[in-house]
Order: sequence, then structure tokens, then C-alpha cells
Amino acid sequence: MAAAEVGDDVLDGDPTMRELEERVAQLLGMESALWVPSGCMGNTIALMLHLQRGDRFLATRAAHVLDNELGAAAWLAGGIPEPLPWDAAPGRPSPEAVTKAAGTNGPYYRLRTPLLCLENTHNAAGGAVTGPEEQAALVAAARAADLRVHLDGARIWNAAAALGVKPSELTVGVDSVQACLSKGLGAPVGSLVAGSRAFVEEARRVRKMLGGGVRQGGVLAAAGLVALDRLDRLYEDHDAARQLATGLAELGWKVREPHTNIVLAEVDDLHQWLGRLREAGVLASSMDGCVRFVTHRDVSRQEIGEALRRIAGRAHG
Ligand SMILES: *Cc1c(COP(=O)(O)O)cnc(C)c1O
Repeated sequence: MAAAEVGDDVLDGDPTMRELEERVAQLLGMESALWVPSGCMGNTIALMLHLQRGDRFLATRAAHVLDNELGAAAWLAGGIPEPLPWDAAPGRPSPEAVTKAAGTNGPYYRLRTPLLCLENTHNAAGGAVTGPEEQAALVAAARAADLRVHLDGARIWNAAAALGVKPSELTVGVDSVQACLSKGLGAPVGSLVAGSRAFVEEARRVRKMLGGGVRQGGVLAAAGLVALDRLDRLYEDHDAARQLATGLAELGWKVREPHTNIVLAEVDDLHQWLGRLREAGVLASSMDGCVRFVTHRDVSRQEIGEALRRIAGRAHG
């Protein structure tokens, strides 16, 4: 970061920002990409561009854009949210659910539904992965109903690693995608929102409007470039999550099988368990009524072993 070549990215561009944006556009198989300070801003920009005030949008139930962005989709983008059921699998709607919720073009007085938001991996479903064929079927259902598609790919890198495919295989047919550098990849800050060249040109205007334009951004982009070098090692986090899940199951915990780097465990007393874990020096949070553990670049396999030993020691604590 200290050695990054910089310019003024609000005025006339920053070379390190450009390098990061081009590299990510290529990885995601999109024409163009724009750095944004956070995933929330990336999603908000996309929704602002895809929706007009009073438009309805479809999103998978418990999606980040529905539950974890303080209503920005409504407040800033003017959208009316319509959650889609997890009727295909946890975190995954079926194409039929998309078709049903989209409805058909009606007379002028009908509510408009121009957008489907997908999320891969699905955070609240415990990092659940949607594969390329399933994704293609969802995109096809959206297209057939005249919907555009935004993919919240905050964790798309984990989905690609888990499936053994390129990230670009998970964006086929989507109009825009948001991807985070700051989750499993470990950058301190930064996400990208990607789409067509025209989409990104408009996105740059909206980013400025939201206060997300930065001047010597190369300092931050440099951290993003380092983060991308970790793409090939995400499987380590997934291995660590499986190790943790197996160890917890051996201790008698009711664990949901992890798809990626998130482990959800069902416990009788969530609050009490979060306290016990904290006392044991094992940091976890809660999600969907479960204890939620996340593995990442700073958690080694030895440390998973140590965490399991400490959890075992607290079993009746
Ligand atoms: C973390 C996350 C975001 C938002 O990213 P921030 O950088 O925290 O704003 C959006 N979508 C999903 C699925 C996420 O996991």
C-alpha cells in the first residue's frame, strides 16, 4: 500500500485503481468494474441504477440486500422488496418461484417488477453455494419475465472455490455483480461493482453522489490486489470450516454441513453459548438462531484444533 502508484480517482483516474478494476472485471467476466468502499455501497448503486422509485424487486429470503443494509434498497433506490422462498434448497429459490413472483406484464396500472437479486454464496443460509446450471436456470426465468439480474457476489470467490469453477462462470447472463475484497480475501476495505461499460459509467456518477469517490485511492486498491492473490487459497478456509464442523459434531453439537467458510451450529441456548465461547476466547456470532463461526486467512488449522479443545472444556460450563 505504501508503494502504490496513485493519481486522483475523482478527477482523472488512479493507475492502481484502474489495475484493480480491470483485473476484477476480467475475473468476473464483466465488461467493466468500479471500486467502491463497501459491499453495501456496491449493491445500493446497482439497485439505484436498476430500479425506479416504486418498482418491486425480487430477492432471495434473508438476502443481504433485504435484511442487512438498513433498508437502503427502499430508502435510496426506492424499491419494494419481495422475498423469494428457499424452495430449491437453503438460500436458493427455484426458477418457478422467480416466474411466479415476477408475474406477467400487465396494463399500465400494474406494479412493475424489473429486477431479480441473487446472492452467491448466500450468507444467511450459512454460505450456501449456487452452481452454474442452477444459476443459469434462475437467470433464464428472470429473462423470460423481462427482469434484469443483479448478483450480490460479496462471497462469489468462495462459491467459485467450493465449486472448482472460475468466478466468471457464476456471472453468466447477469447484468451486474458486486464482489467484496474485504471478506475471506482479507483486504481492509473495498468491493467492486461490475457490469457493462455503460452501467459502470453511470455507477461512477452514483458512487460520487453517495460520497464514495476517493482521491488517492491507489493506496486502498493496492490492498485489493494483494487480496486477489489469495483466490487460489480459499480452499484452506473451507478445509478449516469442515475441520471445525467435524470436530463440533464429535463433541455432540448439531452442525449444519458447511459449503464454504461459514459453520452454523444449532444450540439450545444461543445467548448462553455465545457467552461461554467468548469466555473461552473463541469468537463467534449468531445467525438464523444458530452459532455462526467463520474461518478466514488468519485462522490456521492448529487454531481450529485449539478452538475445539477450548469448546470441549466449556461443554458443561
Ligand atoms: C458482507 C456482505 C455484503 C456487504 O459488504 P460490506 O462491505 O460489509 O458493506 C453484502 N452482501 C453479502 C452477501 C455480504 O456477505
